[in-house]
Amino acid sequence: MLPWPTNPSDEPVADLLRAHRQIHPHGDVALVRQAYATAERMHWGQKRISGEDYITHPLAVAEILADLGMDTTTLVAALLHDTVEDTSYTLPRLHDDFGPEVALLVDGVTKFDKGFFGADAEGETIRKLLLRAGQDVRVLVIKLADRLHNMRTLDVRSTASRVRIATVTRDMLVPLCDRLGIQALKRELEDTVLLALHPDGYEEVRRHVATRPDWASFLNEVIGTLQPELARAKIDARVAPRPRHFYSVWKDAQDKHQPTPRELPRIVIIVEGRQTDCYAALGTVHSTWRPVPGRFKDFIASPKNNLYRSLHTTVLGPDDQPLEVLIRTEPMHRAAEYGIVANFRFPEFTARLSKQARAEQLAWLHRVLDWEAVADDAQRFLDALRCDLSEGQIHVFTDDGRRVQLPSGSTAVDLAYTLDVHTGHRCVAAHRGGRLIPLSSPLADGDVVEIVYTDQATYGPSPDWLEFVRTPHARLQITQWFDDGEPATIGHKVRIGRAAIGLALRQRNRGLANDDPLMSLADELGYPDMEALLVAVAEHRLAPEELVERMIKAVDTTPP
Ligand code: MN
Repeated sequence: MLPWPTNPSDEPVADLLRAHRQIHPHGDVALVRQAYATAERMHWGQKRISGEDYITHPLAVAEILADLGMDTTTLVAALLHDTVEDTSYTLPRLHDDFGPEVALLVDGVTKFDKGFFGADAEGETIRKLLLRAGQDVRVLVIKLADRLHNMRTLDVRSTASRVRIATVTRDMLVPLCDRLGIQALKRELEDTVLLALHPDGYEEVRRHVATRPDWASFLNEVIGTLQPELARAKIDARVAPRPRHFYSVWKDAQDKHQPTPRELPRIVIIVEGRQTDCYAALGTVHSTWRPVPGRFKDFIASPKNNLYRSLHTTVLGPDDQPLEVLIRTEPMHRAAEYGIVANFRFPEFTARLSKQARAEQLAWLHRVLDWEAVADDAQRFLDALRCDLSEGQIHVFTDDGRRVQLPSGSTAVDLAYTLDVHTGHRCVAAHRGGRLIPLSSPLADGDVVEIVYTDQATYGPSPDWLEFVRTPHARLQITQWFDDGEPATIGHKVRIGRAAIGLALRQRNRGLANDDPLMSLADELGYPDMEALLVAVAEHRLAPEELVERMIKAVDTTPP
């Protein structure tokens, strides 16, 4: 006899729904169930390398996103995120069943077919991911959660693929996560990277954390002393221990060439009031314990690139033992933990953000999309993106008070192109602190720079600038200035033609397993070879949509 009524906790999505409703009490439970049922049906019979049913992966990705506090639409898209790529479910079906928002999110994380795009597949895939993220940033959040679950379950794979996947995670996904400010996700991503790439280092930190002398009583004493001091100063605040994650402990030891990991006890003070209360709390901390000189950092007056804001200081705490202290307001704490995700986790709080504050959250993404428009092939775009993600950042100021964020090592030329393209092309000199500086000299954090530009009829960049510019944006603009009028190479045109046909196929929801249809089409239309056909497409002598129409007809009517 069937058990009846079914215990709701037997339901595979029970944990997911509980996590979701905890943060979003009005989340659409029925829609999440429907998405799970569809995903389970489509992935039926598929297994992960570990031998588990495939559906466990999208379910785990959705659970990560539910814990982060993402909305129902994101969870639905997460459950379905691999269906279009790995099953017979198509994008138009998905669109009909779940609507345009979910379709856009799933399309954004769906890889381009390697069989068709070959070596360009990776670049095209990342380019599409970022373009879709420009329309809806949730695409990137799903991608990061997808990667986190794959990293958590990396141990079943071969050493070679472990290293390959973890390296891409370290070089692309972690910096992306950092740019979006999602520390809650970044911490675990970094720890999984450490375990995969430096298992010995991971083990050493694990042992260090497990065996270090008991911090609990020290931190209890710290909090027990500080809380009443803050109350006496009429500062409404809570104080909590704030341990570092493994990767951060390991990285510190590496950077300082320490043979063994070392780490200071750390607390965070979250003030209920306004920004000025952070400085008041800092005063209380510094009058309770002696500050260590040179360790105070004001990330409120000058936020980090991902809009992280806090005060940092180190003091000699009880028994002269050093103690690190972070101070921030509640909204700063939310932003530091969740970054862009805070918009979904705390919608009522986000609704109060100014238009400018919202634009600033995604300034990085929009800058990347600006050069996407200039970079004419995926490889160039990918190189530019890699370069941006690998750099530290500085802030400089224009003479009229604009604050501009640049990769470290950037020059006045980079600044000029970041202000706008015309300023870049017309720039001839630069002043720093009233003094003329070489265009090639690197700017420092906090510099105030005035760009001198010409209004003469003849102007333009110098090819030498390519030797020293650091921003992908400036590099692309300068290259394009000199490229204009120069004929593109055949190889280049072949790639453009192939990409155009690829997109036309994609719009019809089709792909190519190999080049045979292209070759027979070239033959049919009287071209000497396939390359000549692709060049004709690149030069707009053939319309890709018409070719695709013919190809599909040929394939659909010729029995295999
Ligand atoms: Mn996946």
